Amino acid sequence: MDCGACCRCFPIFASESDAEREPKIKDEGIRIDDYLRKGLIAFRLYPLPFLDTCAFLNEDKLCRIYETRPEVCRKFEPGSDQCIEARRRLGIE
Ligand code: SF4
Ligand code: SF4
Repeated sequence: MDCGACCRCFPIFASESDAEREPKIKDEGIRIDDYLRKGLIAFRLYPLPFLDTCAFLNEDKLCRIYETRPEVCRKFEPGSDQCIEARRRLGIE
């Protein structure tokens, strides 16, 4: 189900290689200062100022960069404990 809860609930980060694959990540995400970076985290996509969802979630609750979305999004499994938690937090049955 495309409820988009996971794209507007947990902090979302992308890596340099994610940004190489999808250049919009550099344009629309916020680059993490070098000294704050941990591991593969290089860009923040949520939360961002003035947005209440990930920068790439459209009005239909679909990902604008689905084919080239970050690795963390690729690994997120519908029906997983995190999915259920995201939906619970947002009051989605
Ligand atoms: S990049 Fe796409 S799939 Fe990943 S959190 Fe943002 S809208 Fe959701
Ligand atoms: S993975 Fe879960 S929370 Fe994310 S869009 Fe699908 S049903 Fe909603």
